[in-house]
Amino acid sequence: MGELSKPSMEDIRLCPTHGYYRGEKCHCGYVGEVILDRVRVEKLGRLVSGILRHFPERFKLEMDEDGWVNFDDLVRAVKRKYRWANQWLIKAMIYSDVKGRYELREGKIRARYGHSVKVKLSDYPVCDKERLYYGTGEEEAHRLLEIGIKPVNQAYVHLSTTIEKSEEVARLRTEDPIILEVDAKSAVEDGIRIIMANEYIALAEEIPPKYIVRMMRV
Ligand SMILES: [Zn+2]
Repeated sequence: MGELSKPSMEDIRLCPTHGYYRGEKCHCGYVGEVILDRVRVEKLGRLVSGILRHFPERFKLEMDEDGWVNFDDLVRAVKRKYRWANQWLIKAMIYSDVKGRYELREGKIRARYGHSVKVKLSDYPVCDKERLYYGTGEEEAHRLLEIGIKPVNQAYVHLSTTIEKSEEVARLRTEDPIILEVDAKSAVEDGIRIIMANEYIALAEEIPPKYIVRMMRV
């Protein structure tokens, strides 16, 4: 099952002022030394997100109901597969991740979204957006208008907070995206659980068809 974006394939470098970043130059213009090359960024990212989203048990890691795993245990698991890895490289990957995929706190780590394992994410804030967006292909869009949006191979439906973001996601799967607009406010008022994973991504167990209020071609 794919990450909802193309791999960024950029080296991680270190700026003495701004910390870890991806790409050639820091936003300040400084060209730092490469901490982790793009091939290893890709490998490490796939493994860490795989463990935290899909198969913690494959590495005998205990995950609590909100998706948290002990960070030291994760580092040990990762090192079993990639002997070159260490906690600093894993932290460099997490802190330079502009998509907000991970959360590291109090010695624990979790994925913020993308889970196929059942997680409650009980501490996530309830969605406060009026509208959310879901991009898909034409045929699928018509089907969803009838049956609603349900998670496929995932624990939650992933919705975007902007039309642009939903288009970005949809373009990975189709050349002619259709964007469905969801009346998130009414859904939440009616008791549908929609939570915010980060600034751009909202998660829902399901969006019944009546909350899909508009279909847009982009
Ligand atoms: Zn900098």
